[in-house]
Amino acid sequence: MNTPNEQLFNRAQLVIPGGVNSPVRAFRSVGGTPRFFKKGKGPRFWDAEGREYIDYVCSWGPLLHGHAHPDIVNAVCRVAQDGMSFGAPTELEIDLAERIIGLVPSIEMVRLTSSGTEATMSAIRLARGFTGRTNIIKFDGCYHGHGDALLVKAGSGALTLGQPDSKGIPADLASHTLVLPYNDAHALKECFQRYGEEIAAIIVEPIAGNMNMVLPQREFLQACRELTQEYGAVLIFDEVMTGFRVALGGAQSIYGIQPDLTTLGKVIGGGMPLAAFGGRRDIMEHLAPLGPVYQAGTLSGNPVAVTAGLINLELASEPGLFERLGDMTRAVMDGITEIGTRYGFALSSCSVGGMFGLHFQKECPSNLEQVMKADIALFKRFFHGMLKEGIYMAPSAYEAGFVSSVHGTQELHETLEAAEKVFCELAG
Ligand SMILES: *Cc1c(COP(=O)(O)O)cnc(C)c1O
Repeated sequence: MNTPNEQLFNRAQLVIPGGVNSPVRAFRSVGGTPRFFKKGKGPRFWDAEGREYIDYVCSWGPLLHGHAHPDIVNAVCRVAQDGMSFGAPTELEIDLAERIIGLVPSIEMVRLTSSGTEATMSAIRLARGFTGRTNIIKFDGCYHGHGDALLVKAGSGALTLGQPDSKGIPADLASHTLVLPYNDAHALKECFQRYGEEIAAIIVEPIAGNMNMVLPQREFLQACRELTQEYGAVLIFDEVMTGFRVALGGAQSIYGIQPDLTTLGKVIGGGMPLAAFGGRRDIMEHLAPLGPVYQAGTLSGNPVAVTAGLINLELASEPGLFERLGDMTRAVMDGITEIGTRYGFALSSCSVGGMFGLHFQKECPSNLEQVMKADIALFKRFFHGMLKEGIYMAPSAYEAGFVSSVHGTQELHETLEAAEKVFCELAG
């Protein structure tokens, strides 16, 4: 007898490639049947079989305040009743732009899009249009959405499926993307010395979260800033994941480095399709209709999505929220790491704000090569053990995890109790 999740997965596979609308959801790298979800509330959600889980994926980051936060749901319902989309400007878009600009000092103007992929793709086009140059630099294991130029040695699902370079991307297009190791200021400097005059932009995750979580070395981010300045290239911080997630001002506020452009997504939509790119006024003014770089979107700035984002950011601005969230996230990581280590497993972890990396190796990795040394077999067993205990972690060893502001001591307690049981079984 098939379980309800299995029945749904079988049905889905007949009509949707792999049964999913985004690859990592398919459980390919961990095996087993993906859970189909019906309902979420706060830090928990329920699958098609009515099984309850504590959620450490949080829709891959957006749910900073958990599932179905009443303030967000109420506002979205209210706005939707007055129309779902106009294809013409609304005041709400100005409100959100002003709020983003108020929170992220490096952003002077901002354009809204519907996905992070569009935001990064548009930022790259803008940087190329602004500089009149073609080549861009990205780093091994960083993921910037699935735009052609950026799906080269990419992280996240591409990495999970062992396809960091996708088929279907013309080689001459990919050849304009130079790929360097993360956290290697020396390699970056050498690259600029050779090709500096041809480089339009560096795009970087200022805290990497798509090859599991990898912290940047300050000198590395500083080198990104100084070299782009020296050679007249544009520095793009891809904060689609880290924006309003690691701190209210994003990773750039933690490291004190101002990029020229920033891409945002995930948390700014509060669970709705919404993303953005913004930055220096003189660069942003190159966008159509002011300038010659074209960029557009039928649903860009959609009032319902913008409302979800506005409330998500308003709730994020509550004083002390990020300290509390950071403490909770660290407690979850410290607890799991302590338990696993006590049972003799090589484990390490890191976290900033509500984002974490649990690494199945002794030391936290600082680049993709080190990330790849994780004990994947152990991770899979841990993942399935926790899932059975009602703890939902990302179904890939190459993804960061997330805690919401409504995960409390009860969730912490249940999570560590589950970890104790799972590691004990794995050790036995
Ligand atoms: C998720 C993510 C993207 C892509 O955003 P989508 O909304 O999935 O298109 C881009 N960059 C980073 C750093 C991300 O984490």
